[in-house]
Amino acid sequence: MDDGNRICEALLGWFTRNQRPLPWRRSYHPYHIWISEIMGQQTQMDRVVDYFLQWCARFPDPASIARASQEEIYKVWEGLGYYSRARNIQRTAEILCRSYNCTVPDRYEDLLSLPGIGPYTAAAIMSLAFNRDFPVIDANVERVFARLFDIPTPVKEAPNRLFIEKKACSLLPSGQARFFNQALMELGALVCLPKKPRCGQCPVSRYCEALQQGTADQRPVLNKPAKSVTIFMATGLLVHSGKIFIQKRLADDVWANLWEFPGGRLQKGESGAEAVRREYREETGFKIGVVEDLGMVRHSYTIYRVTLHCFLCRLLSKDSSPTLTAAQEYRWVAWQELAGFAFPAGHRKLIERLQPEAARLRSEGIILEP
Ligand code: SF4
Repeated sequence: MDDGNRICEALLGWFTRNQRPLPWRRSYHPYHIWISEIMGQQTQMDRVVDYFLQWCARFPDPASIARASQEEIYKVWEGLGYYSRARNIQRTAEILCRSYNCTVPDRYEDLLSLPGIGPYTAAAIMSLAFNRDFPVIDANVERVFARLFDIPTPVKEAPNRLFIEKKACSLLPSGQARFFNQALMELGALVCLPKKPRCGQCPVSRYCEALQQGTADQRPVLNKPAKSVTIFMATGLLVHSGKIFIQKRLADDVWANLWEFPGGRLQKGESGAEAVRREYREETGFKIGVVEDLGMVRHSYTIYRVTLHCFLCRLLSKDSSPTLTAAQEYRWVAWQELAGFAFPAGHRKLIERLQPEAARLRSEGIILEP
């Protein structure tokens, strides 16, 4: 037996004993693997599990997704972010029901042709759902290989990616891709951690070149992270006759089709209150008055660090029907009704933060019960 075979054997044995009981591992049903893989893009596994269970309770198969409205889909997805993933799931479900008898296809090329499924996800579905011999290389696997083979240059560089791909192909034991790929990913998630790898618990430590060279904590070599961008934004909780104004974003916009309180970035020299008045005028035609500062929330997406400043506002315009320029639809809703609409993460966080304020405003008769 050569080292490659020994590494496989050690990994497979370790995975059998140490794998986490993730819900999609109960049956490896292709539908479950597809949904878990899409949810797992850009999202921590701990969060994926809860969303996955909620999702499958509401949408047990592609047909139930294809029948649902985008509003329903967004509501279950709310909080996971990157809503284009939810839109792609819906588009893919429609194609599956139209062309694949409502099932997930077992051909790599067919999977690649579906919205939201790229080479990585297609390989993951092929190997995890159908146990076909496709290597799967995510960030965890990259890190494990960068250490196992002590790669001294940035792991994302093309020659290194190629090297890792070749190694993954040559190590992959035929007919065992489902467990081998997961063993590598699980090792990266549980033992070969980004900081402080637990080499004492590692089933392949005797083959690890970085451990032997004393460079494990310097691998993988990463590219310099992109600089973060700080943004200051203002938004207004506009109350009129006890109800709150919300609008639905345009279909071709960032956070398409999600609901929001109007607002936007502060312009140079502008205060938060001035920005809110301007944004309402531009986006709705409303003239509003700022009544009270309701505080700030901070949230991040991609490289952006956003501070969102919120103000309680009242309507000064006589007409409560807006002229929308940045939205497709609007509603005047009671505070409790906000829970039924899907908002971007920043606004959802704001709503949660404002719960005590809302209780006070209700007791003062400013906002009404539904
Ligand atoms: Fe990672 Fe340590 Fe195992 Fe090497 S020995 S693969 S660094 S956990």
